[in-house]
Amino acid sequence: VIGPKQRKVALLGSRSVGKSSLTVQFVDQHFVDSYYPTIENTFQKLVKHKGQEYQLDIIDTAGQDEFSILSSRHAVGLHGWILVYSVSSRSSFEMCSIIREKILNYTGRESVPMVLVGNKSDLAVQRQVTKEEGAALAASWGSTAFLETSARTGENVQRVFEQIVVQIEAELNPAPAP
Ligand code: GDP
Repeated sequence: VIGPKQRKVALLGSRSVGKSSLTVQFVDQHFVDSYYPTIENTFQKLVKHKGQEYQLDIIDTAGQDEFSILSSRHAVGLHGWILVYSVSSRSSFEMCSIIREKILNYTGRESVPMVLVGNKSDLAVQRQVTKEEGAALAASWGSTAFLETSARTGENVQRVFEQIVVQIEAELNPAPAP
């Protein structure tokens, strides 16, 4: 029997978009209203995709600026990147494009396994970014998955981490040309 494959992913985005909340909701299935941000946290969780188990190492960059992960020892060996904005913050949405550029620069690649996440979808009244805008941005980046999530209700949270595995595996095992 082959054991779980190790995959390392990081969540990046502006402060307070819900990176820690998404991680905690995924790992522990609960929502913390006042999660105290620590410097850097790593979480582990097993996920299954197409019968294969994956041990996800999740790097949460809570309490730091958007790019600090890129100068941290945790950035070494990252397989996938989860870019998070809040649907209630246009500036956090715009920040995702800037972060992506930094990642491509850092890795020296034209694309990397990535999921774009519009969090806080439960905040209907405060919404500043439409779902269509989020989908269009991800589409403009090529093979990037897009999801709207709510760390509060748990909506789509599991899927974010499934999708990053899908993106990583697609890159490691590209489909043969037709
Ligand atoms: P981080 O700085 O990106 O890690 O953001 P946090 O996870 O610390 O969340 C910032 C604030 O937004 C906290 O008060 C959370 O309770 C709140 N929050 C996070 N996700 C959601 C969500 O999906 N819906 C709502 N309504 N609030 C959220």
